Amino acid sequence: MSELDDLYQELILDHSRKPHHYHGMPEATRKAEGYNPLCGDQVTVYLKLQGDKIRDISFEGKGCAISKASASVMTDLVQDKTPAEAEALVDRFRRIVTDPQGMTFDEADKMAAFSGVSAFPTRVKCAVLAWHTLRSALEAGR
Ligand code: ZN
Repeated sequence: MSELDDLYQELILDHSRKPHHYHGMPEATRKAEGYNPLCGDQVTVYLKLQGDKIRDISFEGKGCAISKASASVMTDLVQDKTPAEAEALVDRFRRIVTDPQGMTFDEADKMAAFSGVSAFPTRVKCAVLAWHTLRSALEAGR
């Protein structure tokens, strides 16, 4: 395992142990639930949309380290984005965990930590669960 792989591993462990924005949101304007039967991961994503921005996002749930870390990183990245920007991030994340070949990442790119997931097809659903749930929450209001 290279040093960079170790760093990525560490980011995933950190986020799964101490997930960011891990709480309910009574004032949420959107909410969606996701379930990955292959692993048993469950996630609820809460959004507060204001104007054309995602002013707040949080999640709750239970599941494996990858599903939790992925949800945690997602909440960091999507905060204050527009729904369209968030959808673009969903697409990018999906590509990273399924087909990262040819993609380049800079050091600060938290999504890059999940590129290793592409080697483990059974874990892809764990990684994308929160992102697909985010998309459901965004689409719920259309
Ligand atoms: Zn899982």
